Amino acid sequence: MSFVDDAEPLRNPDQGAGTSVLERPKTEEAPVRDDGGDADRFAHYVSKDRIAESRATGRPVVALCGKVWVPKHDPSKYPVCPDCKRIYEEMMG
Ligand SMILES: [Zn+2]
Repeated sequence: MSFVDDAEPLRNPDQGAGTSVLERPKTEEAPVRDDGGDADRFAHYVSKDRIAESRATGRPVVALCGKVWVPKHDPSKYPVCPDCKRIYEEMMG
């Protein structure tokens, strides 16, 4: 395996707040967009290290709320998962 030397988008320094990275959930097996469970339309909290690992390996990540998926897309257009938000706030005290 080789690594990109620079311009690595996964190492975004402005995402340095631990588990503050938001990722839009999406499963490759079920490309549902608007129908189905609401859980697939939230932006979940996931450790940025996990996301970097997922991008490198293609393996799914686990959100704070327990949701498992492979992050690929910009979560900014999605509302924050209420379960993740609650757990995150509890973690932050
Ligand atoms: Zn969540």
